[in-house]
Amino acid sequence: MIQIQNLKKSFRTEEVETLALNNVNMNIASGEFAAIMGPSGCGKSTLLNIIGMLDNPTEGSYQFAGHEVGGLKERQRTQLRKGNLGFVFQSFNLIDELTVYENVELPLIYLKMNKAERREKVKVVLERMKIAHREKHFPQQLSGGQQQRVAISRAVVTNPKLILADEPTGNLDSKNGIEVMNLLTELNQEGTTIVMVTHSDRDSHYAHRVINLFDGQIVTESQNRAMGAML
Ligand code: ADP
Ligand code: MG
Repeated sequence: MIQIQNLKKSFRTEEVETLALNNVNMNIASGEFAAIMGPSGCGKSTLLNIIGMLDNPTEGSYQFAGHEVGGLKERQRTQLRKGNLGFVFQSFNLIDELTVYENVELPLIYLKMNKAERREKVKVVLERMKIAHREKHFPQQLSGGQQQRVAISRAVVTNPKLILADEPTGNLDSKNGIEVMNLLTELNQEGTTIVMVTHSDRDSHYAHRVINLFDGQIVTESQNRAMGAML
């Protein structure tokens, strides 16, 4: 699903150039659950944003499902992103002015799905994420764990093939963190590929494979368990 070769990413601000990713090579198969770990500032979010087509590499190749992402026009890239990708962030990134229901409905509006179909999809996912009883609430009226369940609902309502999660338990206590990890594991067992950035050793154990980044480079990789094996 994901093939990355000799990828470099540098940021230039005024006179300073930061090499955030330096010669990264990595493949992630469909159905995998991969964790990316490493110290703060080592390039984890940059890599995840490139995989999510939110940012472009400076050099190298990134293929998603056989498409060379750098070679796509903006319209084609949007098309590829739509329905294929779901994002989950540490800070939830919900829209405060919209209700729980409306936040989760938004990606379906972008997909131009009609209202009746949207209602059905949103209802099913909110039930599943055990947050349906809060559908008329606003994000600020919810606990962190509930907000992250809404964010995961929004990420999965389009049935994406790939979920990208950037420190999804970073703002949660351990009970809610474990609940979020169990949800991601369930989604993975149903076939969704997951790439997750994490600081947490506990969370990394849920992944099939751990990729360690240091200073923009992959330094080690380790296999936790084979794909398909139960935790
Ligand atoms: P991590 O997620 O591992 O903490 P990041 O990927 O956010 O690290 O950042 C990697 C490096 O790239 C850091 O040195 C950071 O300061 C730099 N960086 C990230 N985004 C930008 C940006 N938009 N502009 C300039 N520098 C950036
Ligand atoms: Mg980060």
